[in-house]
Amino acid sequence: MKLILLGAPGAGKGTVAKKLMDLDGSVQISTGDILRAAVKEGSELGKQAKAFMDAGDLVPDALIMGIMEERLQAEDCKAGFLLDGFPRTIPQAEALKAVLARLNIALDGAINLDVPREVILDRLTTRRTCVDCGAIYNVKSMPPKVEGVCDKCGGQVVQRDDETEEAISNRLDVYNEKTAPLVSFYEKEGLLFSVSSTSSDEVVAAVRAKISA
Ligand code: AMP
Repeated sequence: MKLILLGAPGAGKGTVAKKLMDLDGSVQISTGDILRAAVKEGSELGKQAKAFMDAGDLVPDALIMGIMEERLQAEDCKAGFLLDGFPRTIPQAEALKAVLARLNIALDGAINLDVPREVILDRLTTRRTCVDCGAIYNVKSMPPKVEGVCDKCGGQVVQRDDETEEAISNRLDVYNEKTAPLVSFYEKEGLLFSVSSTSSDEVVAAVRAKISA
């Protein structure tokens, strides 16, 4: 599968990507995870990205495109990829289109996860993430077996720096202004498939049905 996952922060892109990845070996590419790893490593990219991320703002398009152009050419992308959190702006979508055309890669679709704002706010404030493997938990609905410890890798499970109330509110504003226009962009490209569900299993089933149709 070669898919883009669209949707607000907290819509479930990461969870759905992980479930889809288990189905056919497609690789999940999360620009958020790549950037968080760079911040943790203290690399040049991480240093440049950190302040934008902590405030809930977008990292400049040029930085993101530099990472993604290289990432999409890696060997593991040949089996398929699930783009999670990228593209995030119209210029990124235009640049992605050009990169894919150059690499002769056709997308299967852009899946829009359409989730009500109240659900998103609740999810983001209760979400916890493993700092090592990126596994996602929820203090209410899916806590790790041992508080603060990742079931999968034993890493530390924490609330992300950009999941304070102020940063969340900014991230949702940024989403509405810069990322939501991608829905009509991909509709015009004939690639859009919208799913309105708060259940990741239902979303995965709908995507599978659509892809195999
Ligand atoms: P996410 O984990 O996808 O919610 O991303 C966390 C943060 O990383 C975002 O709030 C942005 O600061 C940054 N980020 C992730 N992906 C992108 C992107 N495609 N373009 C710009 N900034 C991004």
